[in-house]
Amino acid sequence: MILNGNLIASRIKEEIRYRIRNQKPILAICLVGDDPASEVYVNRKCKTCDEVGITYDLKKFPSQVSSQKIVEWIVDQKSDGIIVQLPLPNHLDKNFILKHINPNKDVDCFHPENQGLLMTGQPRFLPCTAAGISEIFKYYDIKPKGKNIVLVNRSLVVGQPLVSILTQDHEWGNATVTVCHEYTKDIKKVCLGADIIITAVGKPNFRLTEEMVSEGTVVIDVGIFREGKKIRGDCVFEEVSQKASWITPVPGGVGPVTVAMLLKNTVEAMENNDELQSW
Ligand code: NAP
Repeated sequence: MILNGNLIASRIKEEIRYRIRNQKPILAICLVGDDPASEVYVNRKCKTCDEVGITYDLKKFPSQVSSQKIVEWIVDQKSDGIIVQLPLPNHLDKNFILKHINPNKDVDCFHPENQGLLMTGQPRFLPCTAAGISEIFKYYDIKPKGKNIVLVNRSLVVGQPLVSILTQDHEWGNATVTVCHEYTKDIKKVCLGADIIITAVGKPNFRLTEEMVSEGTVVIDVGIFREGKKIRGDCVFEEVSQKASWITPVPGGVGPVTVAMLLKNTVEAMENNDELQSW
């Protein structure tokens, strides 16, 4: 059974259009350099802003720009939300740049204050990819509670926020989570014990194959890997889909829901929802 991300994204976009019928938020987007994948992601965000009626302000910097110049741009922004597309060129100080985003406008949830709030169960914004995966679970009524979930990723963008969301004590949490990365021994064995696998590697050195997945496992494929003009996920889809009970396709799975959640966060930033939530 396919977990249809486009379907969920269109419902979120419908909700956004309704919430902004009287007042439109503005999203400031910073793109540094000419990484083709980042350009594709940013174009997709801009296109989705157009679809729902959110105004965006795209600032492109050349790859040799300094961290200071980007910070000056960040602090000048009057928009409701601000994002800096990652990854940044190596000479830039990512942490220095991200911590200058006003936490109330940090709709990607990369600021250390917002990451800390999430870790302590009081999220101001939910990081878009993790929130998108939660939306997929909610839509298809896949309850993480009590499940063994294996994450193949430990990044601040994907793995760490998922650990917080999936392990904390709330309706869509309470799972037992195992985190894998490049140094994990025998990923196959770990994955075979999973009720749900969430994989986000996107590199040629990793594929999730049929022999790593037990019958009936839910598989969420976040990875994006470019092969010529085509993109694929981490899964060998044709074989893993024969064993999985539910699986996200790439494209059309996690990606569109992630972008929709970014715009939902932007609406929340505009609504000045800076009171801390709790689960
Ligand atoms: P990242 O920071 O490079 O993280 C990759 C993760 O994969 C790291 O934790 C890394 O482990 C692990 N890894 C690498 N090789 C491995 C191997 N052979 N076995 C096991 N683990 C391995 O990238 P990211 O920003 O988290 O993104 C990951 C992927 O998800 C990319 O393809 C990205 O394009 C995609 N993505 C998609 C969406 C979406 O909406 N669909 C959103 C965000 C990201 P180490 O920490 O040990 O290096």
